[in-house]
Amino acid sequence: MSEHLFTMLLLRLPESLSMEEKESIKAFYTINGRIYVEKIAIQNKIIPFAAHVFMHIHCDSDYWKAKHDFWQKRNRIIKEMLEKLFLAFNRNNVKSTCLVENFATVLRSDACIGCFCSGDVDISADLNERIQIAKSLEELNFSMDKRIDQSITNSNQVSTFYNDDLIADGFRINVMWQPIARSFLVQEDYDVRFSKERLKATTIMESNIRVLNATALMYYNILHIALGHYYTLSPGMRLYVDIDRLARTNEVNWGELLKWTIEDHSRIRTAIVLHLSFEILKTPIPKGLFQKMYRNKRCMNMISYLYDKDQNKLQNKGDRFHRLFVELNSNDCNIVLGLFQMISGATKVQTVSTIKKES
Ligand SMILES: [Zn+2]
Repeated sequence: MSEHLFTMLLLRLPESLSMEEKESIKAFYTINGRIYVEKIAIQNKIIPFAAHVFMHIHCDSDYWKAKHDFWQKRNRIIKEMLEKLFLAFNRNNVKSTCLVENFATVLRSDACIGCFCSGDVDISADLNERIQIAKSLEELNFSMDKRIDQSITNSNQVSTFYNDDLIADGFRINVMWQPIARSFLVQEDYDVRFSKERLKATTIMESNIRVLNATALMYYNILHIALGHYYTLSPGMRLYVDIDRLARTNEVNWGELLKWTIEDHSRIRTAIVLHLSFEILKTPIPKGLFQKMYRNKRCMNMISYLYDKDQNKLQNKGDRFHRLFVELNSNDCNIVLGLFQMISGATKVQTVSTIKKES
């Protein structure tokens, strides 16, 4: 078994592994040894996921339980902090905030709280509430992250807050004023979509933490992977866990999602992400959905460009040419029109920042 295939198996929902797959994991472990296996897990930033799988299949369990316990304890502290933060939002009359991306998925899926290892969480919010939101974060000892030059990042897209003491290595909260923080991206459709969906977000069980509903969260995760990470950038395969766990545990309204992708011209992006998630993690995606979404040549070429099926390998290019290529080929419209929109989007962003500087 290749290292890539082994990594993919470690990211699977443990209960979804077949007997044969479990045996393959054990065999790889025996042949290559703990030190080598741990190196792979560290390189791919998947230690708690790997630990959970090894515990589940009774492979060197005691060693991996200690690793998993560490993340479980850490993540409970993060959840407790978020409880307090959402109470502060309520006190300060903040209406728009809700949790998105990976910690949101852990909570919405009621997945194992140990299986999360990001150094930040993301909250989607309305820019009009920024003062009350900053006040709430300050009440929990989060301040604007000085390590990031906020004048360089577009502060109308994201504000990053930092707390040194919450856990070892500190912890960040990104408040996303737009779904994706990236210059030149034309994302008005997404912006309108999520400003509506944010208001429909609900609290998770026995908690004050508001999280996007399953279908909206699925769509948010898809766009985050496609646009924020160009499908494959770090943490690579781990990105797809968010799609997988949500699809396995929640009633995603796929018909509604399909409707949104047509309205927002995001069919190719959505089809690519769902297809890759199926390839990597065997995510259950309803039959026929790809065909309805998009199955043109460009979409299929993009999938083969991003994922080598024979090697079970996601590519890891990240240069500017690659990003531009990926972006233009992911647009539902033709490439020339996509390029034109990107340039006019860039002009718009520049105009806004010029006005801001002048005022
Ligand atoms: Zn776990």
